[in-house]
Amino acid sequence: MIMVRRTQLFLNWLLQRQSETCIACGIHTGGFSKFPGICTSCSAQIPWIHNIRCVHCGRPTFCPDCVRPDRAARYYVCNRSATSYTPIMREWIGQFKYRGNEKYGPPLGEMMHRAYQAMRHEFAGREYFRFNQSLQNVNLVTCVPVSETRLTERGFNQAQILAEELARRNKLPFLPLLARPQDTGKQSFKTKKERTDTMYNAFSAVPGMTELIKPFILNAESQTKMENQKCVTVWLVDDIYTTGSTLQACARVLGEKASEEGIHMTIFCLTLARS
Ligand SMILES: [Zn+2]
Ligand SMILES: [Zn+2]
Repeated sequence: MIMVRRTQLFLNWLLQRQSETCIACGIHTGGFSKFPGICTSCSAQIPWIHNIRCVHCGRPTFCPDCVRPDRAARYYVCNRSATSYTPIMREWIGQFKYRGNEKYGPPLGEMMHRAYQAMRHEFAGREYFRFNQSLQNVNLVTCVPVSETRLTERGFNQAQILAEELARRNKLPFLPLLARPQDTGKQSFKTKKERTDTMYNAFSAVPGMTELIKPFILNAESQTKMENQKCVTVWLVDDIYTTGSTLQACARVLGEKASEEGIHMTIFCLTLARS
């Protein structure tokens, strides 16, 4: 009897240990407190962006793109990315996005959360009045959508999972505000100009977009006892920032739709990795 019990305990321990194996290296166990499923040794390799050199796109190095005089006006305030797009991030995002390994959702969500916290800290600490103003208003989280074809193929939208993780951790509402009527094909095979052109009309606002937002505005108005304060801050989430054309196209649709209804929308972009 004691023997059976011991065997059972051993099996339980073994199962427990297996379920605690690091999802990234498959070797180490335990010590997963900060990034669920990732061991301390792997999490030490996360290529965080600590020093931002380009205030527009959040690059940690000199940015030739954002200083070009001919670049179009941005529809969002700026982008910040949690990490650089190094081989380890390519591997983790690839596991999550293309191989459907949903275990990567929580640790990658935690990274997004840290980038969000850093971004709030960055803008709250500065004397930019308009940023501070907008940060205190209604805050909503949304994400870059995928087409129906892609959704059926992958079973989920990786940007939505990251956005939902971020919203949950910060007790903010997540609203799917955008749709992607058709698939634009693989962006990575296109030139910068081609990307911008195909992206321009790739997105649309979901039907009744402003109706989704209005309850939050009304709620904020009733709490602050201020009327006609139709300002909303939207945190637009995606996994990778490459040229910014996807975020630009999404932000344009959001901002234009909102202003049609008299809502002033300030958009901040948050991405997991900066390529
Ligand atoms: Zn590991
Ligand atoms: Zn830049």
